[in-house]
Amino acid sequence: AHLDRIAAVDDRVNAFLHVDGDTTLAQARRVDERRAAGEALGPLAGVPVAHKDVFTTKDMPTTAGSKILEGWRPPYDATVTARLREAGLVILGKTNMDEFAMGSSTENSAYGTSHNPWDLGRVPGGSSGGSSAAVAAYEAPLSTGTDTGGSIRQPASVTGIVGMKPTYGGSSRYGVIAFASSLDTPGPFARTVLDAALLHETFSGHDPMDSTSINEPVPPVVDAARRADVNGMRIGVVKEFAGDGYESGVSARFTETVDLLESLGAKVIEVSCPHFTYALPAYYLVAPSECSSNLARFDAMRYGLRVGDDGTRSAEEVMALTRAEGFGPEVKRRIMLGTYALSSGYYDAYYGKAQQVRTLIKRDFEAAFEQVDVLVSPTTPTTAFPIGERADDPIAMYLADLCTIPANMTGNAAISVPCGLSDGLPVGFQIMAPVLGDDRVYRVGAAVER
Ligand code: GLN
Repeated sequence: AHLDRIAAVDDRVNAFLHVDGDTTLAQARRVDERRAAGEALGPLAGVPVAHKDVFTTKDMPTTAGSKILEGWRPPYDATVTARLREAGLVILGKTNMDEFAMGSSTENSAYGTSHNPWDLGRVPGGSSGGSSAAVAAYEAPLSTGTDTGGSIRQPASVTGIVGMKPTYGGSSRYGVIAFASSLDTPGPFARTVLDAALLHETFSGHDPMDSTSINEPVPPVVDAARRADVNGMRIGVVKEFAGDGYESGVSARFTETVDLLESLGAKVIEVSCPHFTYALPAYYLVAPSECSSNLARFDAMRYGLRVGDDGTRSAEEVMALTRAEGFGPEVKRRIMLGTYALSSGYYDAYYGKAQQVRTLIKRDFEAAFEQVDVLVSPTTPTTAFPIGERADDPIAMYLADLCTIPANMTGNAAISVPCGLSDGLPVGFQIMAPVLGDDRVYRVGAAVER
């Protein structure tokens, strides 16, 4: 049924970069065989999932939205992919994304933008915009994403679905094409908080193949989503994430949701996190710095595209030609920014300073969590913007991540749940918890999702 739905609508939504019905149906038959053989499968066995094209898949191409990886078939599965298969989920295909996960709209994909199912003239958010669009358009009940600087929560917010960024290190980066290694975090998309928790539980947990993976049990996210009760909880409203620059409908839905929490027995407290407003500029030094290092591996020798290798050119010339043609403008912008920020003489002033700001943000979180159990804010200042509106204005594009990035800089858990509409478009409510407090955001999210 989902393959039929994809066939019916995806020429308009463009959520998928790769769909191969035969491979998908073969996976589904394999699940039936395992079940018939008496294997005890988890609660999501047989459920289809759309998989972000940043995760390696050995039976499907993996491009990370980039031309430089066109046609690449990975020889191995990412840990998240392997765990989906192990649990019996059926992968429908690979979803569109901003190139190397750099963007907030999917307009930076080398394969054309995805469209928001609520209004096809608007963006579905990004970078995991194919995954959010697929679930919102009923092409898949579940999907995967990665959140480096909001790339799960912001697309979930603008497409009216649930998107969760686990604690950094709570889900494995093994086989995730790297953008910014100290930030990249795989997580789930779903239409309900409970569904997201089930998917979260399926692919999270310690992985010896990822050196930053946390060796602790997965927080009890499914129990928390089922509990869905906030009576007696202390909810902190982040003072800095309100006021000018927030669309009035976004602010109104946010306030109503806070009121709802209060009516359900939570205690609401205003909390100041003065360094949160510096998260965005610090992120745009840290993330490009790490990206400039990670993307050095695309040297025309190892993967995918190779341009100008006609026997007359040096390896260096082939590398330059390949990178010039294979990378899009945003990726080049980030590599240049990052290379500059890391260069000797500027390192302390830019990268070093940004890392110090990161510590200040961490202290804000720690101080806040002495007073409250979770922090809340709008997920993003506006609803889905029209395709093209911010495409030529990187700074306007970056502002979509204002509220989501603090949790990335410190590794905290955070979720976006739908909380109503503004002018007919979905609004998201963000809930942030301490590191390894992932269950708390599910508990609060399940109580307020609408
Ligand atoms: N918009 C952010 C960026 O462009 C989000 C990235 C992400 O989370 N992958 O860097």
